[in-house]
Amino acid sequence: MATTETIEIQVGSEKEMIDLGKLLSPALYKVSIVTLTGDLGAGKTTLVRGILRGRHYRGAVKSPTFTLVEPYELEAQFIYHFDLYRLNDPEELEFMGAREYLHGDGLCLIEWPEKGSGFLPEPDVTVTIKKSAEGRMVTIRFPGDRGKSIADNLMRSLKTEQGVQCR
Ligand code: ADP
Ligand code: MG
Repeated sequence: MATTETIEIQVGSEKEMIDLGKLLSPALYKVSIVTLTGDLGAGKTTLVRGILRGRHYRGAVKSPTFTLVEPYELEAQFIYHFDLYRLNDPEELEFMGAREYLHGDGLCLIEWPEKGSGFLPEPDVTVTIKKSAEGRMVTIRFPGDRGKSIADNLMRSLKTEQGVQCR
């Protein structure tokens, strides 16, 4: 069931953003589409790095600005990291074979989803990152059918953390 739940987290440093990604990671096992919205330098790729660290991936994680997607063929679940900043037309996603990724069993983490609008499936989780005086304000929403259970899982991992507000 979709939920109107919103989780807001103040993130003070790059390290804290990685830690948030690690906490998010287990809640995303059954998730297919996560969108990451925010200006250049907001911390979207840093959060993706944290999610991958949470899946024990130790290698480099960079925004796939020119290749548009970077696949991580991890044991438990494949992760596809999209950066659509340089996408000229959502139809290019068809030519690059993205449909298979977007509608498969993997977890798609998508930076600049607005560039792919019309082609991307509805997200299960949306993450918005804004710069703030204290660092970054991260807002997480759960619009999809499985929203309630994803939100509950995430709340469980966040419960002991400070600075987490729900409304
Ligand atoms: P994006 O993918 O949104 O363009 P990146 O994750 O590549 O952004 O870069 C974020 C930059 O901001 C990094 O250089 C990081 O060190 C810096 N930074 C400073 N404070 C934070 C924070 N609280 N969370 C994430 N990144 C931060
Ligand atoms: Mg990026």
